[in-house]
Amino acid sequence: MMKKMLCAILAVLTAASMFAACGVASSTSSAAGSTSQSGSGASGEPVELEIHFHSDNRHTLVDKDGNLLPVFELAGEATNTKIVNTANPVAQNSMEQFQLQAAEQFPADIYGGKSIKNTLIGYAMQGAFIPLNDLIDEYAPNIKAYLEENPDYKAAITSADGNIYMIQFRQAGTTGKAYFIRQDWLDKLGFEKPTTFEELETILYAFRDQDPNGNGEKDEIPYINERWRETIRLVNLWGARAYSSENFDDRTPVDANGKIYHAWLTDEFREGIEGLAKWYKDGIIDPQTFTRQTNTVKQLLWANKDVGGMTHEWLASTTMFNENEDILARTPDFRVESFLPVSANGEPFEEHRRSIAQPDGWAISANCEDPVAAIKLMDWFFTEEGNRAANFGIEGESYTMVDGKPQFTQEVLDTGAVNIYLRENYGAQLNLGYISVYDYERQWTNEAGIEAYEMYEDADIWSNTWTPPLNFTMEELKVYNRVISPLNTYQDEKITAFITGKEDIEAGWGAYVEQCKKLGADDLVEITQAAYDRYLAAQ
Ligand code: CA
Repeated sequence: MMKKMLCAILAVLTAASMFAACGVASSTSSAAGSTSQSGSGASGEPVELEIHFHSDNRHTLVDKDGNLLPVFELAGEATNTKIVNTANPVAQNSMEQFQLQAAEQFPADIYGGKSIKNTLIGYAMQGAFIPLNDLIDEYAPNIKAYLEENPDYKAAITSADGNIYMIQFRQAGTTGKAYFIRQDWLDKLGFEKPTTFEELETILYAFRDQDPNGNGEKDEIPYINERWRETIRLVNLWGARAYSSENFDDRTPVDANGKIYHAWLTDEFREGIEGLAKWYKDGIIDPQTFTRQTNTVKQLLWANKDVGGMTHEWLASTTMFNENEDILARTPDFRVESFLPVSANGEPFEEHRRSIAQPDGWAISANCEDPVAAIKLMDWFFTEEGNRAANFGIEGESYTMVDGKPQFTQEVLDTGAVNIYLRENYGAQLNLGYISVYDYERQWTNEAGIEAYEMYEDADIWSNTWTPPLNFTMEELKVYNRVISPLNTYQDEKITAFITGKEDIEAGWGAYVEQCKKLGADDLVEITQAAYDRYLAAQ
């Protein structure tokens, strides 16, 4: 009876889960009970642990030749386990890979990845992943200590049913992204950094018209972004919110009165989109912003050509262009610097900030034969040694200890995008369950980046309406999974059409709002409110 009911609920969760539904629930309860007879430990034959970890549509625990990455070799040695990667290293869609595993009832021991929380917890509450609470208490002293010292993190990773299923990734620090502008162009045209919306707009139009790159052509692109969804965030300049977490799919912030609302349906948002449509038409926004490939834009528009003016982006990976030798050989004055947010309406604010627990991490399958070995491996990443490996890689190779602190080698720093290099070559900086330290990033953030970090931290200009990581009940998850993808896909299409002028905002806005409601925008707000109220009550 219970099993039937669970299967019925699960079947509507996602299409893929229909394959998985019924076998999973039945095999659940025995797994947690088997922990006490585990033979895992520091001595004897290593315990084999199969791990399916797939993130960013490309990263797994192995390198291009299929060899286990050094951090996981080290983790295996330290915990007497033999880590076996079971994820397909050349597959290009992490979520698809995860859902394929669901269809096979999650046969590996550990599952992990980026942005998998809601999907994974949905399966977990049906028994596909085991509760970790007792395992942590008994076998994971380092995770346990961290949870005791960080109740906000503990609350964020505790599911609506009171269980912890997933050890989640946490990034240190608050500042993630900031506004950056070409300081050399400002100097050339005789501007100070903008402190008001009007000043910013004047500067962007001057970038367009006054040939700051000096080649005699009107080829400047005043505003650029690596991701077009980040460009949508510019509605912040008109006082509107766009996203409620670091995830572009989360669009339901909380207002000053504790009310959740859908950011993409407000009058302020419409005003912001009208502003962006004008900027797009006027050539202020990159005309190709909606079609460019992620992580090629700054390289293309700053390094290959000298045409990009302003952006809102990550600190380290943006300011590193100040030290790009090719750029400096061509444009010796090239320099991007940060400035604080401005606003056409009301108080300026920075919307983006780092979450106390990312929807990334890993969990133990109900099919895991040795959950004690699995939790001990996870616990190792909360030891000093494991945390250092996850952040910095391998001592003597990617870092050395200097005055008791890990310091990246010059070879690593010279790679530029240190995080990507570490992921691909060491298995450090993958979004598994560990705590990232800011010092890792500070080391490859140059002076302009650190200046931005300190400016934003000091100004404390974040909207106080950042939605904390929320945990849905099964019923709420059902609604979430039904609504989120069709609604966001529709919104992305329509808002893009409004900005690019393919559709008229005045004529189309009413129908857009109506359709969003038909697709469940109000239901989404309702379940988010319920989860947020629970979060507040748990404080
Ligand atoms: Ca020019």
